[in-house]
Amino acid sequence: MSTISRRQFLATAALSLGTMGLVACGGASSGDTGTDTAADAAAEYTLVNEGKLTCISNLYFPPFESMDETTGEPVGFDIDVSKALAEHMGLEVNWLPSQAFDSLVPTIKAGGTADIAIAGMTITDARKAEVDMSDPYVDSNQSVVTKVGSEDTLDTLNAEGKKIAVQAGTTGADWATENLPNATIVPLDDIISAMNGVLTGSYDGLVTDLPVAGYQIKNSFTDLQILEPIPTGEQYGIAVSKDNPGLTAAINQALADMEADGTMAAIETEWFGAEV
Ligand code: GLN
Repeated sequence: MSTISRRQFLATAALSLGTMGLVACGGASSGDTGTDTAADAAAEYTLVNEGKLTCISNLYFPPFESMDETTGEPVGFDIDVSKALAEHMGLEVNWLPSQAFDSLVPTIKAGGTADIAIAGMTITDARKAEVDMSDPYVDSNQSVVTKVGSEDTLDTLNAEGKKIAVQAGTTGADWATENLPNATIVPLDDIISAMNGVLTGSYDGLVTDLPVAGYQIKNSFTDLQILEPIPTGEQYGIAVSKDNPGLTAAINQALADMEADGTMAAIETEWFGAEV
């Protein structure tokens, strides 16, 4: 019926409708015959804890990952994806405490602590040099965020004396460094601190992933605004050790199965409203 893929359509729709810029990726394994299942691949990989898919993330990146205020348990889009991945692989999910975003790839590379990092993590060449990244499961973009009432533009933010908060080690930090070279880029541990800092006037703006900015402005930080969506065309993937290629294959199979059986669409609806 359509000459463009669902993903292309969604990416375009998300941008043109001014929605949060999030779409689930489909069709990565469209050539799959359906004979393999994620569980079939189980014998071909190692796990840190037997029978468990042990996951790490930085849990300050809602709605992809955060901590439930009352239970302290991890919640979010990626947490639901991790549960569904484990289920499709015949495993239980095991979440470790939050750690700094820029320590996730080194931890997976070192091995022995966790099987996967799932953290709204953009697939980049630099990361692929350190770890394996799964097939993409979400399309994303960047955004520049300011306080409601701020008269700053991208041009005025790119000036000496302007402070732009970012999360250390992220693609948003890279974008800010490249595109706002005259401003002072301030790397922080997490993007919630950056949002609070823009609210209180410590920073003139921040750069973060568009779906996170959109969700937070809608639900918690109503005095912040998206100054400018930045169409970087990023895709999120799951980081796995290069020593464990069977696990990457099993994750990719499970992601394809989850796309085909509606699991991914259900998680998308749960965290981002009606399926696009
Ligand atoms: N997607 C961005 C990156 O990979 C930000 C991820 C995050 O802050 N959790 O760098």
